[in-house]
Amino acid sequence: GIPAESLVPGDIVIVEAGDKVPADLRLIEARGLSVQEALLTGESMPSEKHLDPVASDAPLGDRASMLFSGTLVAAGRGTGVVVATGPSSEIGRIGGMLSAVEVLTTPLVRQMDSFARWLTALILLAAALLFAWGVFVLRQDVGELFMVMVGLSVAAIPEGLPAVLTITLAIGVQRMARRNAIVRRLPAIETVGAVTVICTDKTGTLTRNEMTVTTLVTAEGRYGLSGVGYVPEGTVHRDGAPVDPAGEPLLEHLGRVAALCNDAALRHRDGAWDVLGDPMEGALLVAARKLGLAEDEQQAAWPRSDAIPFDAALRYMATLHHDHDGRGLVLVKGAPERVVDLCRWQVTGRDDTAELDADFWLRRAGEIADRGERVIALAMRRADSEHASLTHAMLEEDLALVGLVGLMDPPRAEAVEAVADCQAAGIRVKMITGDHARTAAAIGRLVGLRSPAVLTGAELDAMDDAALRGAVDAVDVFARTSPEHKLRLVMALQARGEVVAMTGDGVNDAPALKRAEAGIAMGVQGSAAAKEAAELVLADDNFASIAAAVREGRTVYDNLKKVITWTLPTNAGEAATVIVALMLGMTLPVTPIQILWINLVTAVTLGLALAFEPPEPGTMRRPPRRRDAPLLDGALVWTIVLVSVLFLCGVFGMFGYALARGYSVELARTIAVNTLVVLEIFCLFFIRNIHGTSLTFKAVAGTPAVWLTVGVTTAAQFAFTYLPPLQAVFGTRPVPLWDGIAIVGVGIAFFAVVEVEKQVRLRLARRPSDGPPPA
Ligand code: ADP
Ligand code: MG
Repeated sequence: GIPAESLVPGDIVIVEAGDKVPADLRLIEARGLSVQEALLTGESMPSEKHLDPVASDAPLGDRASMLFSGTLVAAGRGTGVVVATGPSSEIGRIGGMLSAVEVLTTPLVRQMDSFARWLTALILLAAALLFAWGVFVLRQDVGELFMVMVGLSVAAIPEGLPAVLTITLAIGVQRMARRNAIVRRLPAIETVGAVTVICTDKTGTLTRNEMTVTTLVTAEGRYGLSGVGYVPEGTVHRDGAPVDPAGEPLLEHLGRVAALCNDAALRHRDGAWDVLGDPMEGALLVAARKLGLAEDEQQAAWPRSDAIPFDAALRYMATLHHDHDGRGLVLVKGAPERVVDLCRWQVTGRDDTAELDADFWLRRAGEIADRGERVIALAMRRADSEHASLTHAMLEEDLALVGLVGLMDPPRAEAVEAVADCQAAGIRVKMITGDHARTAAAIGRLVGLRSPAVLTGAELDAMDDAALRGAVDAVDVFARTSPEHKLRLVMALQARGEVVAMTGDGVNDAPALKRAEAGIAMGVQGSAAAKEAAELVLADDNFASIAAAVREGRTVYDNLKKVITWTLPTNAGEAATVIVALMLGMTLPVTPIQILWINLVTAVTLGLALAFEPPEPGTMRRPPRRRDAPLLDGALVWTIVLVSVLFLCGVFGMFGYALARGYSVELARTIAVNTLVVLEIFCLFFIRNIHGTSLTFKAVAGTPAVWLTVGVTTAAQFAFTYLPPLQAVFGTRPVPLWDGIAIVGVGIAFFAVVEVEKQVRLRLARRPSDGPPPA
């Protein structure tokens, strides 16, 4: 297509259901056209469009002969002339009002924000109380005590946290984009990691959408068609022997319907063949050529006069053609049940028809479907020259079935793998397709869906919501569904407490995409309406990208949690040091200005490393997290307490040891500060692997981000300790080598304790329960 921004007034534009109108258009043709204009008018129901004139001062919503840029075509097809583009279009005029900036935030980050506000208030209150206590009970110097309180507040308040969380999110968005999952609404980055069910399309998502016609069935017999891809070279054979299609009038009819009742085009470029339009229709053009009927010659002989476009709810399309003598031809192609239902006759010879044997055709269709092939039925009838337009009534009389076509569309190898990954991650994969139940079941088997049971759209219609809620769990394949069924399925799954990801491409999929926790639109095949409704857009329409998005979503959430899990205990540890010293009336092991230094150097630098953490090895082998899980769960509170206590022991231990050796208070403080920073670095390595061991080679090897931040922090600590100008500012003294080694030793001891504690905790949590409770 042509990019919307290169349109100029006077261009002719054709739009159809699902498209986003690219400019303001005056209609010159409209067929069942209705448009969603909520964007402009606030009206949520689609408004109908036609060519009738309207009053010159009609309000925007009543200008039925105009289409406005940015609105979505809900149904039908139309042609219009561009009258205004860009800033001069209606939407452009109010564009300023609409370009609201989307804030970079998610539920977890919001939860964190309000938590941080509470925490700050609490810390300030505690500082005030301590201040009063220090002044009135301990009779300490007011000025000095005030400085200590400032230091305490700086130590305790996680001021760098919001920035680091935002950076973590931004990195997650970027990583997902690299895996072909484009995040449209930021909260999706969290929800996609929490999904428990993925409902996916079949064609193009689980399968390659590279179709090849392999089977042809007429009233006379059954044929195979050879050849690969879209190269129109291959032979017809029957029972293993080659057949000349020129001698088979039924195949000629079949080829003609396939070539003409078709909106795709074949393109031969640089020695390669490819398809413009629907791959299935492209495959039909290729098959027609193999039968000796090139679509361009057919179109020249039988120009199209009218068409009823394919609609996922109808499941067929029809075209009307007239040759140059005025003889008419109505052609239909679609799902076999639908087409067989429309037909009265079947074609048995060049000009012969007989009474339709519906059972025969449906049985044949089922046989083809069982091999995982998509089945399409083709039908035709003659029409009079005066019929210039096509109506549904014309399809209900005298239509004759020509034959069936079986198309192979193999599953994507990476989709099979991704389905297994999702299942290992405790996520149920369900396939929702408009295709034949038996085709769907066969493909479901090939990609490894768990349950062989199939529910069809008709069976869904017969169930009420309660029955559906009972049935959805056991079924993984939904066939012959219409888009409305998707919405019902999402709601039934949600009623069972599932967190649902739903894919879609058509206009009618939009409600289901909106309703699902994670709506996922197809970037290539998808309509603008579907993309607009979705949280995520897949750049390659591939199921494997959904699995990748889940992995990245879980990783981002883990990393947000890691940032929090590292920041809170280290801040608490710093604060506890000050508080304890104050309560016991001891010399402060860390001065307020030194606390400022620690927060400047460590809080942001070290915390940032966690934003770059790659997925942990077990990320896709864990069940989905609970969506209502609180931020400060038991494990986190326990980590905060444990780490704070260990920090206290480390810092006071080293401080006391230094004083005992007769060092000056300044040197003892320098040792205490360095101990604190070393502890924070070791804490970082501990937090990096909250779900597993930190002692594997890979875990210790770390990421470039980790080593960069550790390097920067270490260099800063050396400067802090040994550079005279900084010594003057922070009151530090050079630390002797052996004491430096002792400081690192304290870090290692800390690491050993927390790691052992984590291993014990993980083992206990993993211990199998003693069986289900008696019913
Ligand atoms: P899917 O969920 O596999 O994408 P669709 O909703 O696209 O299924 O198609 C449903 C059924 O409609 C197909 O099985 C086929 O029988 C029929 N169909 C699909 N595309 C066309 C078309 N272009 N022309 C006629 N029939 C079609
Ligand atoms: Mg489709």
